[in-house]
Amino acid sequence: MAGEPQSDCLFCKILAGSIPATVVRETERTLAFRDINPQAPTHILVIPHAHYPNAAELAAAEPAVAAELLTEAAAVATGEGLADYRLIFNTGAGAGQTVFHAHVHLLGGAPLREGLV
Ligand code: AMP
Ligand code: ZN
Repeated sequence: MAGEPQSDCLFCKILAGSIPATVVRETERTLAFRDINPQAPTHILVIPHAHYPNAAELAAAEPAVAAELLTEAAAVATGEGLADYRLIFNTGAGAGQTVFHAHVHLLGGAPLREGLV
């Protein structure tokens, strides 16, 4: 069923507690935790509890939860003392997506390079 946990999904395993993560915030519908391979001084992932393969599929099925990824990312940034930050949704392997459970990257804590790629 759409949104149900997938046994072969890394982020579903983090949500289930079978793989450890450094959790920053959690709500009824979202989890924020530190990326294991940070690309900036602050690099946090915000994910929905529900399993969808990417952000667009999450938004189509559960738009309120997709919006909550953004409000949670803002709350995490505030909690980390970041006024300036970058949010990235990689979608598809060709764009660098390696975990096919919707997530947004929050990057900040140092001047970020200008430009998109
Ligand atoms: P993406 O490439 O957009 O699919 O992002 C997946 C992210 O998950 C990468 O930045 C990885 O460093 C991160 N990642 C992979 N395994 C873990 C883990 N066990 N805990 C935290 N972050 C992870
Ligand atoms: Zn999943």
